[in-house]
Amino acid sequence: MLRARAETWVKGQLSLITKRGEQLMEMYEILLSRFGPQYWWPGETELEVMVGAVLTQNTNWKNVERAIKRLKEEDMLSLRALHSLSIQDLARMIRPAGYYNVKARRLKNLVRFVLERCGEDLSLFLNQETDELRDGLLSVKGIGEETADSILLYAARRPVFVIDAYTYRILSRHGMVVEQSSYSELQSLFMDNLPRDRELYGEFHALIVRTGKEFCLSSKPKCRGCPLGHWGDIPPLN
Ligand code: SF4
Repeated sequence: MLRARAETWVKGQLSLITKRGEQLMEMYEILLSRFGPQYWWPGETELEVMVGAVLTQNTNWKNVERAIKRLKEEDMLSLRALHSLSIQDLARMIRPAGYYNVKARRLKNLVRFVLERCGEDLSLFLNQETDELRDGLLSVKGIGEETADSILLYAARRPVFVIDAYTYRILSRHGMVVEQSSYSELQSLFMDNLPRDRELYGEFHALIVRTGKEFCLSSKPKCRGCPLGHWGDIPPLN
């Protein structure tokens, strides 16, 4: 009796997982065919990706590019150089990225953590086991889950799905998640239902961000014309 119930439950979970996976893959394919590949993450080196992941918090990418350009022009885009800068000097250089005092402190914290763990060998740092690396990044003051997972996915090339406000907004507007869903619940929705594929995750996240920026605006979503306006059997709820 118990066994029969358990088998029914497992079958139910499997069908649930399959349906969610199919819905997400359909979403991905719709977005990819509309927008094409996004070639994320822009950055010439792993360190540049990490710095960008910190600087992009609460600002647009154009501003991050200007800040990174300044760091490059001043020959400061290395662990040693960033470590040698005072917070004030670093803040001055990354000023275009906004919240520059806070971000300068966060960058300094991250750089110090890498140096303490692995010296200047960034590859050694990024080659740690995924869980160990994630826990380490999250222990750095100012590094949250979205930033840590962006570093894992785009700098360390691990199959970890990045969740951001756009992901939450789009999925909740389509009734895929409830309003109180946590970061890890959303992440599990993707990672438990899609293949663990780094390239798929990287492209999917970039496509979600593009959709959020161009169509799924916080106050007035532009559902008319949005590629997800006719997303299978899960239309927008509004
Ligand atoms: S269809 Fe509307 S709710 Fe859905 S992602 Fe597009 S803009 Fe957002």
